[in-house]
Amino acid sequence: MNSWPGVIERYREFLPVSEATPVVTLLEGNTPLLPALRLPEATDPRLAIYLKCEGFNPTGSFKDRGMTMAISKALEAGSRAVICASTGNTSASAAAYAARAGIKAVVMVPRGAVAIGKLSQAAIHGATVLMVDGSFDQALAIVMEIAEKHPVTLVNSLNPFRLEGQKTAAFEVVDQLGRAPDYHLIPVGNAGNITAYWRGYREYHRAGRAKELPRMVGFQAAGAAPIFENRVIPEPKTIATAIRIGNPANWGPAVEAMKDSGGWIETVTDEEILRAYRLLAREEGIFMEPASAASVAGLIKMVKAERFEPGSTLVLTLTGHGLKDPDTALESASRPISVPPRLDAVLAQLGL
Ligand SMILES: *Cc1c(COP(=O)(O)O)cnc(C)c1O
Repeated sequence: MNSWPGVIERYREFLPVSEATPVVTLLEGNTPLLPALRLPEATDPRLAIYLKCEGFNPTGSFKDRGMTMAISKALEAGSRAVICASTGNTSASAAAYAARAGIKAVVMVPRGAVAIGKLSQAAIHGATVLMVDGSFDQALAIVMEIAEKHPVTLVNSLNPFRLEGQKTAAFEVVDQLGRAPDYHLIPVGNAGNITAYWRGYREYHRAGRAKELPRMVGFQAAGAAPIFENRVIPEPKTIATAIRIGNPANWGPAVEAMKDSGGWIETVTDEEILRAYRLLAREEGIFMEPASAASVAGLIKMVKAERFEPGSTLVLTLTGHGLKDPDTALESASRPISVPPRLDAVLAQLGL
């Protein structure tokens, strides 16, 4: 069989696994690197823009790349249960990979701040879902303490194996593009993914697989921009729930990634995020969740500010699938039109 083996088998030589590691995989990775058709027109036609569509992973977000590693290593260590705090996608992924591994998952989510699709995933995969009247940051503090004192493995991005798995996205970009891009644009929440991509690009560069290194450009929501503002945000607010984080776990490494790569971090407003979200769906045919649209909103803002040299190659990570959050989609699009079941009425409605 010559099919895709999942990220651990594909990139085994770059990952901390051995023959003894029981690989738990849902064949994540190998996501499309889609050339943008209309984004250059809408921004700057002299840019080559590619979309790394991570919503096409098995549970609909890039979290699966890290979870295949975290769950495989938990199993190798003899763990029978995993725990995480989550804005939704981590819990969906943890629940699915724990189910695949035959171990227990406990996920803790902030009430009212998790998109319905993500919650339904955690539930149907059999995880114990704890809903907390509090923030993601508070939930994370609690699960960290539990994992420290009890035989339960933490699978938040503080788990070092998560970022190891996630760095494979950078390997794929280079393998698909034949080089590293000049700029890599990415939404930033807990700041694990920007850290992982930078690690991946550097490792591939060191191994001689890419001659170039990209500048890492991160985007936070304006109401949840701790790194940009250089202060903890006690009550982060944004419609993009996946990046509604006030005290990122990977704050330091993300700042390093930004500085080492010659990149920067910026903010985008919810209005800019929603406009980009609709644009992506209507003009490119790609339905991603609002947090993912932060990359596109950032692209539009940075092109206006003339931050990219003409001729540059840009890769944008689109982090999670739009079906995760159908409520926001319905609120952002025009309403269905009610018609009676009659041909003349339908034709009249269509102006035919
Ligand atoms: C987790 C997540 C993010 C944020 O990634 P970090 O590694 O926490 O910065 C962005 N978008 C989606 C869809 C996510 O699931």
